[in-house]
Amino acid sequence: MSVRVRYAPSPTGSPHVGNIRDALFKHLFAKRYGGVNILRIEDTDRTRYVPGCEEEIVESLNWMGIEFQEGFTQGGDHGPYRQSERKEQGIYQDLVQKLLDSGHAYWAFDTSEELEEMREFQKINKQAIGYYGGMWRDASPNQVEEAKRAGKPGVIRLAIPRDKTIVLEDVIRGRLEFDSNTVDDPVLIKADGMPTYHFAAMVDDHLMGITHIMRGEEWISSAPKHAWLFDAYGWDRPIFVHCPVIKGKDGSKLSKRHGDTRCLDYRSAGYLPAALANFIALIGWSPGGDRELMSMDEMAEAFSLEGLQPSPGVFDLDKLKWMNANHIRGLSSADLVAAVRGVAEDPEAEAYYRKAHEEKEDPADKAIYLGLATLRTALGEQTELAEKMIALEQERVTTLADFGAAGAFFFTDEPEIDGTALAKWKGQAHIPALFDAAIQYSGSDYETFVKEYAAANGFEKLVPLQVPLRLGLTGKTSGPGLFDLMAALGPERIRVRLERAKGIFA
Ligand code: GLU
Repeated sequence: MSVRVRYAPSPTGSPHVGNIRDALFKHLFAKRYGGVNILRIEDTDRTRYVPGCEEEIVESLNWMGIEFQEGFTQGGDHGPYRQSERKEQGIYQDLVQKLLDSGHAYWAFDTSEELEEMREFQKINKQAIGYYGGMWRDASPNQVEEAKRAGKPGVIRLAIPRDKTIVLEDVIRGRLEFDSNTVDDPVLIKADGMPTYHFAAMVDDHLMGITHIMRGEEWISSAPKHAWLFDAYGWDRPIFVHCPVIKGKDGSKLSKRHGDTRCLDYRSAGYLPAALANFIALIGWSPGGDRELMSMDEMAEAFSLEGLQPSPGVFDLDKLKWMNANHIRGLSSADLVAAVRGVAEDPEAEAYYRKAHEEKEDPADKAIYLGLATLRTALGEQTELAEKMIALEQERVTTLADFGAAGAFFFTDEPEIDGTALAKWKGQAHIPALFDAAIQYSGSDYETFVKEYAAANGFEKLVPLQVPLRLGLTGKTSGPGLFDLMAALGPERIRVRLERAKGIFA
């Protein structure tokens, strides 16, 4: 059996990390087995349709490197891949007729007041809430005709069999049994003629030859309806794979209050798609052993349904940061510069950090916001220096956006000098001569220079030399290795900065 899976988003809002993980699992699974991943748009609920959302879905998937072999963007043999277009072709209407003919579906003409009354009655009598037949499931053809003639709006419902156990095998959860008396009769076609998710998704899964319905576990309660729908048609059921939800660190379902959930916000914030993919894949999937840092290709090679976990995975932002820093370290210098440039020149990143610092008044976000602007200019006007800075900070940053703030001192000859450190070193007698020697040094091996200077002037330790030099050149007490930093800045910048610093340290 060749694997065929589908990612079937409803264009009702920005794709969040949970949706994207769902898509990623399918990408990895299809890739692992040389199968097909399909991108289908489930847009039958027009009241929830959000314009621009399809574009954002595609952009998010492309950014993440999630691939499809068929779908609404590239077509394929099972199209169209947008359900509103499939509806126009009459696919659902033809198929629901079959169910009506075989007695597996029925027309129901309940008004909303009647449905409300039913719910009230069920509540008061502590019965299962839902539509279990009402007065229409067993209505005669004449009653149905009459209601239609009278122009009553009606829906078509699936007749779930009663007094039966609906059994299904889920790859992650094993055998699931449902008492069919607790499974209500879902609407298949709404009064406006639109199919519901329950109907359109399952029909499409069949027609598109889907082998595995992989989706979030929030669909488990609907699974008996879906399994029965396949049975009612006499179709082979696909294999069900209900993936665990993602939770926040506090154990509740991941939501806005745990931080960013929108996929593309992670791009704006400076995360690498490979790191985000690595991170979200491991929420709910284990590659075995203690492997953690993995590329997309490595994950695809290792992916298996057996590795999917039944328990919910936790979204731990600190872990994502750690992974991102590691993925950044793994980039070639050309790829890194391109990635940093991408963020520095991205208006969405600018807007993201502006909003972050304005809303939360967080000085760290403000430094990043300002740093990005500096970096943008520097990449244009001082490209060589900017690239040297990026190479030196590669080991030190967490996100691509951090390069701006971390390396801002490279681009100003008058860096603000750390007050506490200055208070400690100001007035120390050895500093002016040290700075003069550094200004006069004409080589490029600053390590040798500092060591020889220490030996010649009786310094047992390098600290009294290194700290003032670093402070004078960068304003900070920490940063990339001093000798590399001095080589990157070069003699002219060293001269200008240390001449200025002499006055400040005096
Ligand atoms: N359109 C559904 C959603 O966006 C898809 C669920 C499924 O994968 O079956 O939630």
